[in-house]
Amino acid sequence: MALYSDKVMDHFMNPRNVGDLEKPDGVGEVGNPTCGDMMTFMISVKDDRIADIRFKTFGCGAAIAVSSMVSEMALGKTLDEAMEITNEMVAEELGGLPTNKLHCSNLGADALHAAIEDYRKRLETGEPAEVPELHEVKRSGKDKQCPYCDADIDASSMLCNSCKTSFDTCPHCGKIADRSREKCPHCGASIHKHG
Ligand SMILES: [Zn+2]
Ligand SMILES: [Zn+2]
Ligand SMILES: [Zn+2]
Repeated sequence: MALYSDKVMDHFMNPRNVGDLEKPDGVGEVGNPTCGDMMTFMISVKDDRIADIRFKTFGCGAAIAVSSMVSEMALGKTLDEAMEITNEMVAEELGGLPTNKLHCSNLGADALHAAIEDYRKRLETGEPAEVPELHEVKRSGKDKQCPYCDADIDASSMLCNSCKTSFDTCPHCGKIADRSREKCPHCGASIHKHG
C-alpha cells in the first residue's frame, strides 16, 4: 500500500516552480540531517507580495512534494501572509504525510520563512541576494528509496520489490524521475523520452 496520498505523489512527480530565479530578492536554505534533505527557496518580491518563487530541493519524495506545495501556497501572497504558512498547513494541503516523513515536511515552511527573512534583511542592508550554489547532500545510498512505499530499492533494476512499482530514472543524476516530463525534478536536466 502506498504511504503517500495522490496529492503528494502528484507534487513529487510533477513538482511546481522548480529551478532558479535569475535575480532573487531573498534566498532561504534549510537542511535536515536526519534524511539528508536540503531545501532552497528563492523569492522575488513586488509590492510586498511574493511575485515569483522557485525552489531547489535535494531529498526524498516527501521533501520535494512539500517544496512544491509550499511554492504554490506562497505565490501571490503578501509577505506577512506567507509568514503565517505553517508546516502543519502544508502537510494538511497535501492530504497528510506518513509519520516517518513529517521531519521532511517540517522543512518547507521554514525554508520559505528563511527566504522572506533574508529579503527583509537585505532591504535594510541593500545587499543583493545571489542565486545559491547547489548543495548536493551525500545520503549514503539512501536516494534510491521507493517514492511509493519508502522501501529501499535496487538501483540496477529500478523495481521496488516491496510494492512492485517500477521506475524511470534521470539519465543525468540517476534519481527517480517521471520521464514523460520535460525536466528532471532533481537536477533540472531535460529528460523527456520521445516515442
Ligand atoms: Zn526526507
Ligand atoms: Zn515500493
Ligand atoms: Zn536528474
